[in-house]
Amino acid sequence: MDAKGKKVFGKRNEWKKRKNGKVCVAMAKLVYDKTGRLLFTKEMKKDYTILIPMMAKIHFDIIKNVFVHYGYKAVLLDTDGPEIAQVGLKYVHNDTCYPAILVIGQLIHALQSGQYDIDKTALMITQTGGGCRASNYIHLLRKALVKAGYENIPVISLNMSGLEKNSGFKITLPMIRRMAAGLLYGDMLMSLDNQVKPYEINKGDSAALVERWIQKLTEILSGGHGFHRKEIAVYLDKIAEDFAKIPIRKTPKVKVGIVGEIYVKYSRLGNNNLEQFLYDQGCEINMPGILGFMMFKADNRLEDYKLYGGSKAKYVFVKKLMDYLEELEAMMIDSQTRFGFQPVTKYSHTKKLVKGIVGYGSKMGEGWLLTGEMMELAESGFPNIVCTQPFGCLPNHINGKGMIRQIKRVNEKANIVAIDYDPGAPRVNQENRIKLMLAVARETLKSEWTQNDEKWKVKVPVKKKSTSSVK
Ligand code: SF4
Repeated sequence: MDAKGKKVFGKRNEWKKRKNGKVCVAMAKLVYDKTGRLLFTKEMKKDYTILIPMMAKIHFDIIKNVFVHYGYKAVLLDTDGPEIAQVGLKYVHNDTCYPAILVIGQLIHALQSGQYDIDKTALMITQTGGGCRASNYIHLLRKALVKAGYENIPVISLNMSGLEKNSGFKITLPMIRRMAAGLLYGDMLMSLDNQVKPYEINKGDSAALVERWIQKLTEILSGGHGFHRKEIAVYLDKIAEDFAKIPIRKTPKVKVGIVGEIYVKYSRLGNNNLEQFLYDQGCEINMPGILGFMMFKADNRLEDYKLYGGSKAKYVFVKKLMDYLEELEAMMIDSQTRFGFQPVTKYSHTKKLVKGIVGYGSKMGEGWLLTGEMMELAESGFPNIVCTQPFGCLPNHINGKGMIRQIKRVNEKANIVAIDYDPGAPRVNQENRIKLMLAVARETLKSEWTQNDEKWKVKVPVKKKSTSSVK
């Protein structure tokens, strides 16, 4: 059925013919569900290219390769530039969250680029399944596609809550395990890259190693390895071992944490390449990983059960998932510690920190996790923090900007600047505000350094042999 309730089963996709008066026989039948949603069918899987909007480069590269392994023609969009926000603004209302404007803008910009055969293209977008607007970006995207003349392009929802189903795209358990391992490896690579890159003696060593590992992990996961517990521990060690071999020279640097709404925190497009800006300013950065966010999402289900009751069976299932994610986190912490790196903070510790500051029921957007991440960063030597806030994001303004005073009350060293990101915010203003925060940070660093210069002596990472037996 189409959106008007007419039968379309068995019909070829001839929308171009109707639109331009040209004969055009497309490959797949257009099939709609009873609500009028265009489905991504098994027939489409063979020929269609699936476009995925970019967020965290390292993680998404690995995840995209998992899709490719399962037979999908997936393309991760790495486009950039102010025109993407302009395309987004053309098709999405300007009072919508900035991440929605950018994600939808990037997808439509790609469709308009002429690089893809639009008769054989599908789009993918995440649905968090929570109460926040991120669950509804998919509807905004479909509306925008109609407006832009691409109403026959199917949209696939990537979600773990069973929100939308498509016969041509199925998430299976082995696929979930590969993706979970991929996210963990992504966090590991990101964390070690952040610790090594600012101090490397040969510029580019760390970035090259990240690329090498993305390729290696793709082969490993595709070969049916790297996602079983024992293998994960081995490969985490191998990654840490390789990073520990990169020659570095430790010099005093301002340490800056980056937190915020998940899209603008990680996305170069969303935060005007904040990471690069901070490197250029001579900082070492620390970005809490995606695994913590996944744990937060799972943990919310457990908190819901405690606060409001619900299905015991669901609670037991999610608890098992949570235990598994905690196990993965423990492996990463263990590996980073043994090879002389600063380990990521345990999710359970971050959760403890916010007790008495903000309630666990505050879970829209990044919820209490955002406050917790700022507290753990300040505690673990990254008191200078950029809190990235997209336009239109009420939950993160409450748990981010709104909590700065409370955090400073607990940790007076916290030096936090909240930066708003929206299509009209000039980059130069954002960078100037960050520079002011850095000026304070440099003063503090200078006084700490003169008080105790011992701690800045060259640090050579402890190199321990991997216990690996897996090649
Ligand atoms: S977290 Fe903020 S930006 Fe993201 S969907 Fe919710 S309101 Fe919008």
